[in-house]
Amino acid sequence: MGAGYNISMGTTTFDPDALRDRYREERDKRLRDAGNDQYIEVTGEFERYVHDPYVEPIEREPLTDEVEVLIIGGGFGGLLAGARLREAGIDDIRMVEKGGDFGGTWYWNRYPGAACDVESYVYLPLLEEVGYMPKEKYSQAAEILAHSQAIAEHFDLYRNACFQTEVTAMRWDDTDRRWVVSTNRGDAMRARYIVMASGPLHRPKLPGIDGITTFEGHTFHTSRWDYDYTGGNSDGGLDRLADKRVGIIGTGATAVQCVPHLGASAKELYVFQRTPSSIDVRNNRPTDPEWAASLEPGWQERRMENFNNLVSGIPEPEDLVADGWTDIIGNLLIRIRRGEGDMTTEGLATTMEMADFEKMEQIRSRVETIVNDPNTAEALKPYYRQFCKRPCFHDQYLDTFNRPNVQLIDTEGRGVKRITPTGVAVERHDATGTLVEEEFEVDCLIYATGFEVGTDYTRRAGFELYGRDGVTLTEKWHDGASTLHGMHSRGFPNCFIFSNVQSGFTVNFPHMLNEQSKHLAYILAEAADRGVTVIEADADAEAAWVDTIVSLSQMNQRFLESCTPGYYNNEGKPGDRSVKNGSYGAGSIAFIEVLEAWRAAGDLAGLELSAP
Ligand code: NDP
Repeated sequence: MGAGYNISMGTTTFDPDALRDRYREERDKRLRDAGNDQYIEVTGEFERYVHDPYVEPIEREPLTDEVEVLIIGGGFGGLLAGARLREAGIDDIRMVEKGGDFGGTWYWNRYPGAACDVESYVYLPLLEEVGYMPKEKYSQAAEILAHSQAIAEHFDLYRNACFQTEVTAMRWDDTDRRWVVSTNRGDAMRARYIVMASGPLHRPKLPGIDGITTFEGHTFHTSRWDYDYTGGNSDGGLDRLADKRVGIIGTGATAVQCVPHLGASAKELYVFQRTPSSIDVRNNRPTDPEWAASLEPGWQERRMENFNNLVSGIPEPEDLVADGWTDIIGNLLIRIRRGEGDMTTEGLATTMEMADFEKMEQIRSRVETIVNDPNTAEALKPYYRQFCKRPCFHDQYLDTFNRPNVQLIDTEGRGVKRITPTGVAVERHDATGTLVEEEFEVDCLIYATGFEVGTDYTRRAGFELYGRDGVTLTEKWHDGASTLHGMHSRGFPNCFIFSNVQSGFTVNFPHMLNEQSKHLAYILAEAADRGVTVIEADADAEAAWVDTIVSLSQMNQRFLESCTPGYYNNEGKPGDRSVKNGSYGAGSIAFIEVLEAWRAAGDLAGLELSAP
C-alpha cells in the first residue's frame, strides 16, 4: 500500500498514496482482453431485446418521394434540428424515427424510476418557445416524453413524419445529387440533405456471458421495460413482482434509478454488481411557482450557459442550478482557473487529483452512513476517480440494500460468470477466503447493461452510409472518425452528423445539440441564399480538424488510461482510434466558440460549395 501520510481537505482526511494504489488494483481487476468485444450485438437471436413494447405495429405503403431535409432520429437531436430549421424558414422536412413517436431515449427508456439527473430547467429543450415549465427540478421520464411530443407539435414536425421506420441504408446518388434512404418498410425516399441525429446511446448491448441463451425464465433489457410482466409504470408499483425472484445485472445510472422500485416490489431481488457507481445526493423538489413567475424572457438560455460555464470550470457570479454537478465539477476546476496552487502541468494534475480524492471520500463515507450491513457498504464504495464513470445522484438507491428482500451480489470486479437455465452464477470469496461459485435462482432476469458506445458509428446507427463512389462511412472511419467540426465528412456531401464524435461534449447533452442545430440551420439558410445545393468538407480543413482533435486529447488520454474500464475509456482500451472518435478536448465552451467564430466570419471556410 501507500506511504501512509494523510492529507486533510475541508473535513476529509485521506492517504493519497494508499488511494492511488487501491484505484490501480481495482482497475487492474477489471481489465479484460476482450475490451468492447465482451458485449454482444442485439441482432439475430437477441433481436427480441430491442422489440418495441410500446406501440401497435402499423402498415403503410413504401415511399419513394423526395424532401429537402430528412432527419434521422426523433429524439432531442432531431427535434432541435427540426425546430431550428423551421425557424430558419425551411419547411420541407421529414423526420424518420424507429419508435412509434418522438422522444428518442425518453421514448425507449421508460423503466421504473427513469428520470433525468440534469436539472430540468436546463435539460428540457425549448421551454420558452413551447411555453412549458417542468414540474420538478429533476423531471421524470413521462414528463420528458410528453415535452418531446409538445416540441414536435409546436414546430409542426408530425407533418410528414415516418414512425416505426428503421433506416437500413443511405446512398449518395451523384447523378441527381440526392441521398436515397432505404428503410425496413421498403421505402426509397430521396432527400437533398440528411441529418444524422440517431443519438449516442442508441443501441442496447448485452454482456456475452456464457449460457445467456439458456435462461428459461423471463428476461428483458431496461430500455424495453416489460410492464406486462412486472405490472406498474415508470412511477413504480410493480405489483406483479410480489411473488417473483428478480435478478438485475448492472449497477450503472439506469440500475441506480430502477433498483429502488424493484426492491420495493419484488419478493426477492439480487443486484449483480461488477463495479459500484458513485451515488451523490439528489434532493429533488417541486418547481416553485413564484420563482417560475419571476423569470424574465431569455432565462433558459442564460441558465443553460450559467450551468455549462460552471461545469466547465468557468466562474460565474452566481450558481443558478447549484446541484451535485456544479458542486463536483466546479470544485474540481475552479481552483485551477483561479490559479490556486502549483500551476505547472504536474501541479495542476495533482490539484485535480486531490480535489477528486476529497469528493470520492465523501461519496464513500455517504455509503457507510446509509447502508447498515458493513460488508454490503464496503462493496458499494467506488474506488476510482469521479469521471471514470458517469456520476449518479439518488436518495433511495443505497437505502434499498437495507431491505430484507434485497441482496447485493458483488462479484469483486469479475462480473457474472454464467447464466444457467434457472438463474445466475457468480464466483466470489467466501468467509474463509476461498473462491467459490454460487448460483442464484431467479424467475426474471433484467439486463441493465447499457448501450454500445465504442463500436463503429454505423453499427450503432444501425445502418450503413454509402458516399461518393460507394465508399462506406465504416471504411472511411476504419482507423477513427474524420470530420470537420464533427458534422461534415468528406465523401458524404449534404450529410450532417450530430454526435459527440470530434464535437463538443457537455454534461447537459441537449445544450450541445442546440448549438449543433443552430449551426446546421445557419449553413442551410446560407446555402439557400447563395443558391448552393451541394455542401462538402474540404480535404485540408477536415485533416486540420482531425489533427486538432488528436493534439487536444493528450491530457484526457492520460486520465482515461488510469481509469477503471467503462464506456468512457473504451472499456479500458483507449487508443489512437478512440482518440479520433473522442470529443473536442478543449471543452464544450471552446468548441461552441469555434462554431460561433466560424459563423461570424461568414465565409463557410472549409466547406466546398457547388450548385451543379
Ligand atoms: P452503463 O453502461 O452505465 O452500465 C452498465 C452496467 O452493466 C455497468 O454497471 C457494468 O459494469 C454492468 N455490466 C456489464 N457487463 C457485466 C457483467 N458481465 N456482469 C456484471 N455487470 C456487468 O449503462 P446504463 O444504462 O446504466 O447507463 C448508460 C448511460 O445512460 C449513463 O451513463 C448515462 O449517460 C445515461 N443515463 C442517464 C440518466 C440521466 O439521469 N440523465 C439516467 C440513466 C442513464 P461495469 O461498470 O463493471 O462495466
